[in-house]
Amino acid sequence: MTAQTFYNPGTISEILDLLDEYKEEAVIVNGGTDIVEQIGSGRIRPKAILYIRNAGELDYIREENGAVLIGGITSYRSMLESPLCRQFGGLRQALTEIGSPPIRVVATPAGNIGTSASGADCNTALLALGASVVLSSKTGERILTLEDLFSNPGKTGLHRNELIRQIRIPINKAARSSFIKLAKRKAQDIAQVSACVCVEAEGGICQKVTVSLGAVAPRTIRAKSLEEKIVHRTLAEAVAAVKGIIPAEASLRNPKNRPYKEAVIGVIVGRALKQAYADGVGRT
Ligand SMILES: Cc1cc2nc3c(=O)[nH]c(=O)nc-3n(C[C@H](O)[C@H](O)[C@H](O)COP(=O)(O)OP(=O)(O)OC[C@H]3O[C@@H](n4cnc5c(N)ncnc54)[C@H](O)[C@@H]3O)c2cc1C
Repeated sequence: MTAQTFYNPGTISEILDLLDEYKEEAVIVNGGTDIVEQIGSGRIRPKAILYIRNAGELDYIREENGAVLIGGITSYRSMLESPLCRQFGGLRQALTEIGSPPIRVVATPAGNIGTSASGADCNTALLALGASVVLSSKTGERILTLEDLFSNPGKTGLHRNELIRQIRIPINKAARSSFIKLAKRKAQDIAQVSACVCVEAEGGICQKVTVSLGAVAPRTIRAKSLEEKIVHRTLAEAVAAVKGIIPAEASLRNPKNRPYKEAVIGVIVGRALKQAYADGVGRT
């Protein structure tokens, strides 16, 4: 480790004070499954490491005002064990695909957002579910949808003095969601391509849909061009309409991967749609 000082703040207020004091030169360590390797290898050299896992007030999952609220240090395992998170089928599927059980004990959705890797599984599910984040700093708070956060310029859209204090997932009883990940291995592997769909249907016709894709652009994207092909159609029509389509929002820059990704995007979106319908969309 190359950092000068290690801090173990126990409250949100202490974290915000330290972020304000060190600004660009502090780094937050949550579960550490992404960032510790970067610090250890010297790729980043922060002056201060803020290990936030002892700020217990950031560890919760609760329902409030029509949304499920998840604290900034809450782990994937806590989410998988939570009856409140179980209602989001696509999220549950994404969480079970992340790393392995030991990784899920420590790793967090806040860390997935903080890193914003191209194939980040939790981000892909949260984006389709219309989630937003509460970002706190010493100067105040802003609430952003993940869609806005991921389309911000900069690596993650986060300011360096900001803490991801909370993630909010709106509850929509009429919707069903589903997540599909293609990877080289069944476990401990990052996505080659992933998709999450969140659908509302009536009389077998899709009324509303959100489609998010992982590993087809530098960050997780929402594929509105695919959504347009799905909405107001039956399941069979929608599956046929997305087959072989490369969404305009994708940016497949590596020519080596391009043919594979192009071939599978529509297929996994179609599979995710079928799963969401099989799970009962339109029957509530
Ligand atoms: C073996 C292995 C397998 C993996 N498999 C997968 C996988 O299948 N799918 C997948 O998506 N990822 C995978 N990952 C990556 C990683 O586990 C996830 O991205 C995880 O969500 C990171 O969470 P964390 O709490 O460990 O983040 P950390 O490493 O602690 O932090 C990551 C980044 O987020 C910032 N950050 C963390 N919390 C906050 C906060 N509350 N406020 C502000 N900034 C914050 C940190 O400063 C850092 O920049 C894997 C990693 C490993 C080591």
